[in-house]
Amino acid sequence: MVDLTEKRILLSPGRAGLLEHKERRMSVQDKLGILADAAKYDVACTSSGVDRKNGKSGMGNASACGICHSFAGDGRCISLLKILLSNDCVFDCKYCINRVSNDVPRATFTPEEICELMMGFYRRNYIEGLFLSSGVVKNPDYTMELICQTLHLLRDIHHFYGYIHVKAIPGADPVLIERAGYYADRMSCNLELPTAGSLTKLAPQKSRKKILTPMRQIQNGIVSNKNEMVIYKHTPRFVPAGQSTQMIIGATPETDYEIIQVSESLYDRFSLKRVFYSAYISINQDADLPALPQGPPMLREHRLYQADWLLRFYGFKAAELLDDQRPNFNTLLDPKCDWAVRHLETFPVEINRADYYTLLRVPGIGVNSAQRICKARKFSNLDFNDLKKIGVVLKRALYFITCSGRMMYPIRWNEDYITRNLVDVGERLPAEVRAGQMTYKQLSLFDDFHVTAPSGPADGLMALTGQL
Ligand code: SF4
Repeated sequence: MVDLTEKRILLSPGRAGLLEHKERRMSVQDKLGILADAAKYDVACTSSGVDRKNGKSGMGNASACGICHSFAGDGRCISLLKILLSNDCVFDCKYCINRVSNDVPRATFTPEEICELMMGFYRRNYIEGLFLSSGVVKNPDYTMELICQTLHLLRDIHHFYGYIHVKAIPGADPVLIERAGYYADRMSCNLELPTAGSLTKLAPQKSRKKILTPMRQIQNGIVSNKNEMVIYKHTPRFVPAGQSTQMIIGATPETDYEIIQVSESLYDRFSLKRVFYSAYISINQDADLPALPQGPPMLREHRLYQADWLLRFYGFKAAELLDDQRPNFNTLLDPKCDWAVRHLETFPVEINRADYYTLLRVPGIGVNSAQRICKARKFSNLDFNDLKKIGVVLKRALYFITCSGRMMYPIRWNEDYITRNLVDVGERLPAEVRAGQMTYKQLSLFDDFHVTAPSGPADGLMALTGQL
């Protein structure tokens, strides 16, 4: 077992700019500054699907606050304390800021320190849950054991019932993964890169097998736990909010088609709740990494999220959206429009007769509007004004639908013409995609905290944590 009284961190030897071969005390505030910042590259931190109330003596509630609805403008969840347990990683993944060969400040929290921060922030209503990831400290087992101890303290000693999402460290003992699974609401094991070959090239200490093994264990654990719960009412819940994963996009040459095929396979074979896509940010210099002078591929990331949505909620298959001849999305169009203009033979769709799943495939018609159309047309035939009231985005849908046999306007039935008009319609893109760059500025716990004449970012941090 790890010594919980350990209060010192050892700065990694040989890292220029740090105190070589010396131990020094680092305050919790210093560690928080380093480890909250280091966690910002992990995008897989949404929460959902948990409905658990605390007991009479507990604290926190995984359902009441709706924590899954709190996101920053860039889509990142802001209501969780999102930190690394440690960035003192012994691995050397080429794309990662925390790789062992980088010269960056290193820190490791003790489990008690995380609890202290967590409960302090929770009591002040700054956060509603915890997202805990980590670099590999010493080895996967040691790291996973620290994570398990943190969860044990939070749940069993501090009686924290709020949402917790932790990383499963690939290569860790299955017993530790299982232990964490009974404490956490969600677990994730990052796939990192879309193919095994890319993983070997950029993360030589990782392997696809080591990543998929805990993923399969968690999946099996969730299924058998559900069965047990039917028989034994008070069985503790295992990863009740399911598992997710994350892939880096643009660091390796995989096409969009390959990426969404991997996602589809993960949803089908591992029952994942979410696959997150993280546009590669060029942080490290390495001959195996792309330079990306135009910045992180944010628009591509956005299109992949849209395509992922089509896979999960609109009944599309990866092989329908793309193929070997056309392996990448047209980034000027959202993937559904892109698919529709290449399948004009399936349109126009008659709004008053088409079944629900056909309606879902029409650009401009979402899940809600398709459901409303199916309900409303039971009473009378719908026209274009009705569709507008229902919420259909007519500026996209008008090329693909008829109401009682009539199109909204006479249009030229031609792929180029429709594509040009759809591009001209414009689209509301997330701010960072419009800006063409990704800053990865994580919403800080300290953004709205005003201190008197701070002389640097650490001052706000110190003042706040000093109140804990
Ligand atoms: S295991 Fe790889 S990706 Fe994770 S923190 Fe270490 S170097 Fe970074």
